[in-house]
Order: sequence, then structure tokens, then C-alpha cells
Amino acid sequence: MPIKRKMKAAVLHKPLDVRIEEVSVPRPKAGEVLVAMKSIGVCGSDVHFYENGRIGSFVVRKPMILGHESAGEVVKLGPGVKGLKVGDRVAIEPGFPCRRCGFCKTGRYNLCPDVIFYACPPHHGAYCEYQVAAADFAFKLPKNVSYDEGAMVEPLAVGMHACNRAQVGPGDSVAILGAGPIGLVTLQSAKARGATQLIAVDMDANRLKLAKKLGATDLVNASRKDTVKEVKRLTDGTGADVVMETAGAVRTTQQAVGCAKNGGRIVLVGMPTTDSFEMPVIEAIVKEVSISGLFRYANMYPPSIGLVASGAIDVKSMITKKFKLEDVPKALDFALRQGKNAIKILIHV
Ligand SMILES: [Zn+2]
Ligand SMILES: [Zn+2]
Repeated sequence: MPIKRKMKAAVLHKPLDVRIEEVSVPRPKAGEVLVAMKSIGVCGSDVHFYENGRIGSFVVRKPMILGHESAGEVVKLGPGVKGLKVGDRVAIEPGFPCRRCGFCKTGRYNLCPDVIFYACPPHHGAYCEYQVAAADFAFKLPKNVSYDEGAMVEPLAVGMHACNRAQVGPGDSVAILGAGPIGLVTLQSAKARGATQLIAVDMDANRLKLAKKLGATDLVNASRKDTVKEVKRLTDGTGADVVMETAGAVRTTQQAVGCAKNGGRIVLVGMPTTDSFEMPVIEAIVKEVSISGLFRYANMYPPSIGLVASGAIDVKSMITKKFKLEDVPKALDFALRQGKNAIKILIHV
């Protein structure tokens, strides 16, 4: 298939203003490949940029293509690319780290101060027909893994990284606060690493139902029950070995300390909208809990793809709605208005 010079893209101009426009097809530089997009996820961050034009210090100052959870087909190789060929089906890890700084050299390239990332201003993302990717960040999909599942590898990588941060291991009890997309992939990652008690906490009954299907052993409906009391009751009064905060709410972030057992590990995965707030510090100190932050992921695509291919992790059940590229504005509106009812929305090109 010949590659066009112009392509369709969904471009964010200002809050609540996304337009389908003709833009130039990017060219792959040395070490990069051009990928024809097939499936792209709608992430909470895309919806935040759509609604507010910013996330914290990341501000959209000039028109930007949204989307960073993508999979597609390699259509062109930049100079010097080895190990990939035209026609390969790939999941795209949407980053371009500098590869020279200390973080990059020690494998923590997610912390690289110069990393470029899809749909993180001012860099364009994946709601378009073609996008370039670093060749070693385009991971081949096994035959039994679809493009839709390939797009889901991005959020899954976050859940996998969260479990890495907490060193989740066999027999652990893990409380997951929030059963949205990131909560559900974190839950499944913990299960894949051998955690045996998986407590899903959410205020939404439908999300809890899906959490149960995906492996939760215990459910806590936080709209009816006290989260800390329930998690303690379900863990014989001790609290969980690991607490994953994925809701990104002030309340659940504060509750994470109470849900952890003495010496427990807490990972703050969700990003609260408030910069700073009160935390039960003394309780955290005397319980000797470890609290870890998390920013994206590093080196998590290969194990994530492996777990999806083996059937150990089910990302398909999380896909609830699909839109065409032309309908990205509709998809973002839908996500904004009814996000609670949809777990994962995908864009098909
Ligand atoms: Zn995302
Ligand atoms: Zn770097």
C-alpha cells in the first residue's frame, strides 16, 4: 500500500475543540519506523487534555494530536532499522528517551528529563493514520494478540510497573483502590505475579463486577462500606501487604496508609487533581510503610505482551466501546460525559 503525503488526524486546538484535519504524514528518522495506526485507546489523560487543555504543568499551547495507547502495522523503515520489516504488527511504546542520561543508562528511562512522549505537549500523539515510533519501542505482536489488545498494552504496562514498584510476590494480599482501567490492569498484573488475595475497592458496582471477572477475590463497595475497615476485616485485621492507589482521589490516597499492614508497601499510581493535602504521616511512620511514586513505566512492554499472549491477562474484557478516527470528537465527548460507564474506549483507524 503506497503511503500518502497527507493524512487525517484528530487535532486538539483548545479545550473541548478537537477537529479532524489533513496534516502531513511524519517521516521516520534513523532508528525509527512509520506505523499505520490500527487501534488507539482513549486514556483518562486524553480526556483531561480535551476538557482542560492541560494536566498540571503540561499545557497544550499549540494544536496537538492526542492519543498514546496504540498498535498498528509497520509501513516504512527509517535508515539503519534492523529487526523489523514492513508488514509487522506492533504495539507502540509511545516514548523517545534521550538514551544518554543516567536514568536512561540505568534502565529508568521513564524518568529521563528529556523524554519525548506521544500526546504530551508539545508532541503529537496517535489519533491519526500514521505515526513514527522508535524501532526498539515498536514491539511485535504474536499472532494471537489483536491490534486492540496491542493498544491495551500501554495501560497494562502501568499496572505491571506498579507491581514492580511494590515487588508484588507469591502469596501477597493486594488491595487495589479504584477499579477503573488502571486498577483492573494492576489487579491482573498482581495476580500474574502470584498475589493470592486481590481486594478490589470502588464505588461503582459494574466496575466491581468486572474486577471479580478479572480475578478479584474480594470486593469492597466504597459507596456503602468504610474502605479501611473492610480491607482490615478481609485481611484478619492486619491490613494488606500491598496497597495500590489507582483512583487518583485525595480520599483514597489518604486511606492507602490505613489499608496497609505494618511494613506494607503502597504505590501511588493515580494522580490526584489536588497538588498537596493532609496524609496520616504518624501512622505511616510507625507502621513502617513504604510509599512509592510511579511515572509511566520502563521495560514493561515485553512482559505485558507475553502475559496477554499466554492468556494470563485479559485486556479484551475491558474494551467496552469503539469509535472511528473520524469520530474522535464524539469519543472524547462520550468519555467525558459517560466515562464511568465505559471502561476502555478504542479508536479504530
Ligand atoms: Zn494512558
Ligand atoms: Zn535520558
